[in-house]
Amino acid sequence: MSAFNIAVLPGDGIGPEIVAEAAKVLKVIGKRFKADFKLKEALVGGASIDVYGRPLSDEVLKLALSSDAVLLGAVGGPKWEGLDYSIRPERALLALRKELGLFANLRPAKIYKVLINASTLKPEVIDGVDLLVVRELTGGLYFGEPKGVETLANGTERGVNTMVYTTPEIERIARVGFEVARKRRKKLLSVDKANVLETTELWRRVVIKVGKDYPDVELSHMYVDNCAMQLIRNPKQFDVIVTENTFGDILSDEASMLTGSIGMLPSASIGATKQRAMYEPIHGSAPDIAGKGIANPIATILSVAMMLRYSFDMEAAAAEIERAVEAVLAKGLRTADIAAAGEQRVSCVQMGAAILRELGG
Ligand code: NAD
Repeated sequence: MSAFNIAVLPGDGIGPEIVAEAAKVLKVIGKRFKADFKLKEALVGGASIDVYGRPLSDEVLKLALSSDAVLLGAVGGPKWEGLDYSIRPERALLALRKELGLFANLRPAKIYKVLINASTLKPEVIDGVDLLVVRELTGGLYFGEPKGVETLANGTERGVNTMVYTTPEIERIARVGFEVARKRRKKLLSVDKANVLETTELWRRVVIKVGKDYPDVELSHMYVDNCAMQLIRNPKQFDVIVTENTFGDILSDEASMLTGSIGMLPSASIGATKQRAMYEPIHGSAPDIAGKGIANPIATILSVAMMLRYSFDMEAAAAEIERAVEAVLAKGLRTADIAAAGEQRVSCVQMGAAILRELGG
């Protein structure tokens, strides 16, 4: 039996509610697929500030570094908004990403037929959409030097940011893109602005070179402005999109909103080795509904499916969770965020329990 250590960090707001349901799913999957998941729960974000005065304690960082994967709920909330930026709950996420060396962010966007009306786009445009954005997380415009705002001799202010990528940085994110495409429909689109930005001209050259190692994956290229248009015009054409940090930030938000339901969307951030990965829903701690028991746990449960697929190579178990989610939606179960007017709503625990039943738990 394979054994995996998982650091479970529920965080704040609805975090503990949704993570509790995801942890139950892991237990059932462990039994069915003969894997020993050892879950160790710890405080992060505002919950950690309240106890330790810091959003990420050394012990929790050590736990994350020594685990095979991290499952995170969400952090933040009005209680901690007045604090200095350096000790805000969100700092914990940045520190975890940095210390774990997470350089690739994976964000799938999939349309569920039964929720098609949750999108603001026409059903015929989005029916069948199933894509994944791979965003580079640690380089590019957000981190490049020089940066800052300076005042020139004539009093004019000048702001500078620099888009920088080195060959190894592009190679490693390209490899993630190809590997992920291999686990899907084997189509990889690299998004750049190679007609204007030299940095992304290099990006394109390196991606093409890495592509030689993946002859089974069909590689194509698109400029970022066209990609932003195509995501709205004909999103079905995409399988995996790999792109640099800033483009990925924007395109992954655009892609996720094709679905119109924030409570359904998982994500993964992965690093250089299989032991470096963090899985979390894309939404925040939803303080407006925290404690009411009405949060949608599906994004977190689907994050567990991503963990099984990308960290533990348990494709069958991952697919089984995704099937169970589709099955409960097909049966008409809806949490408040995805319920249409007049539809009956279930609680967070009821949604979790229904998925567990589908899984045979
Ligand atoms: P949010 O994603 O928490 O909530 C936006 C809206 O979506 C709210 O109306 C909320 O009720 C709803 N919602 C979100 N997740 C839901 C779910 N699972 N089920 C049902 N409804 C859901 O974004 P926000 O309100 O801008 O931020 C709230 C707090 O979360 C802030 O402190 C913010 O900094 C933090 N935040 C954390 C993360 C993270 O931990 N990764 C990400 C984004 C925001």
